[in-house]
Amino acid sequence: MTSASDDYLYTITLKSSMDNSLRIPFNKPFLTGNEQELIARIFEARSFSGNGPATQWCETFFEKRYGFRRALLTSSCSDALEMAALLLDLKPGDEVILPSYTFPSTANAFVLRGAVLRFADSCYDQPNIDVDAVRRLVSARTRAIVCVHYSGVACDLKALQKIAADAGAVLIEDAAHAIESAYEGKQLGTFGALSTFSFHETKNVHCGEGGLLAINDEKYIARAEILREKGTNRAAFFRGEVDKYNWVDVGSSFLTNEMTAAFLAAQLQELEKIQVGRISRWERYARNLKELESKYPVRMPVFRPGTTNNAHLFYLVCDSMETRNALIRHLNADNIQAVFHYQSLHASPFFRDKHRNGSLPNADRYTDCLVRLPLFNELSDSDIDRVTQSVSRFFRDRYLQ
Ligand SMILES: *Cc1c(COP(=O)(O)O)cnc(C)c1O
Repeated sequence: MTSASDDYLYTITLKSSMDNSLRIPFNKPFLTGNEQELIARIFEARSFSGNGPATQWCETFFEKRYGFRRALLTSSCSDALEMAALLLDLKPGDEVILPSYTFPSTANAFVLRGAVLRFADSCYDQPNIDVDAVRRLVSARTRAIVCVHYSGVACDLKALQKIAADAGAVLIEDAAHAIESAYEGKQLGTFGALSTFSFHETKNVHCGEGGLLAINDEKYIARAEILREKGTNRAAFFRGEVDKYNWVDVGSSFLTNEMTAAFLAAQLQELEKIQVGRISRWERYARNLKELESKYPVRMPVFRPGTTNNAHLFYLVCDSMETRNALIRHLNADNIQAVFHYQSLHASPFFRDKHRNGSLPNADRYTDCLVRLPLFNELSDSDIDRVTQSVSRFFRDRYLQ
């Protein structure tokens, strides 16, 4: 073996042994144990590139389970969002309304098309987009309204669908957090004309890096297949619908490869088990921490009627950035990794000079005051109790009760 490859293996081993301390990490990417076997089958078949049987198995899984008209696997949720923006044929000057409290990918896809971003505030009681703020931002140039179901909890989809329909705009759901979560009994990602999911290793179900474009409006399906395959009609060619494949539109390589799809398939086969494990851990956190809300200025996640909990995140909202940061420092000193989350995009270095919609106090408050606790399927009951005892001790000491 060459020294170059020795060095490479050493680097990987070093990184994994560092995670092996007494410390409770924020996340440990879930493994079913079947991933390697399904990937080995791809090696046996010697067919690695995209849109093969593993990719199609995953797509069929989502179409059947959730009722999407079409599900297209992509290499990330960011790619799926870029495909959504391309499908809308946005022109420079077209406006897109979206939450400020989200990941930059939600915004990048539309900026890349030259769209004007109109950032809306979060609700007071939860990080999801405030529909009254959306209503105030609608104009004759609004082409799309994008919502993010923060922590897998549904936005007010009934209101958003109506606002979008009245404005002649397309509703897009960034459902990156929202696998196995519903609004009024229907899976998230089935409400918008287009929706996107993420299988990044921090999400409930993952394949390292991966994503999905879910298409609910039939008119986008044929073009989406072309955009994903470099602007060619290769997918139609392999189905025998055209006799040669050609460059027919713009596009890029948004496909994922078969090894990644096989990894994802292994996870999807155990989806219900993954969810049962996450939800029971989430509920243990909630039971242990419930009494804090009545004693101290700290709040737990809010679920409105008709929404469900898919246990993507367990978070607390403190009353100030000082308290939140002190809590993170306290937990770190206790060997528990807790982390804050999004930084409001309207106030970001990239966008703050372009932002025109005034202050967005709720988005800023979640930026400053929200903290996420460790949540993954290898956390034991005693790990969770160790975290919640440490959190309780922090509040008791800070507020001297
Ligand atoms: C994780 C995430 C993304 C990006 O997903 P990738 O698969 O990493 O591209 C986009 N939006 C939201 C809300 C996310 O949480």
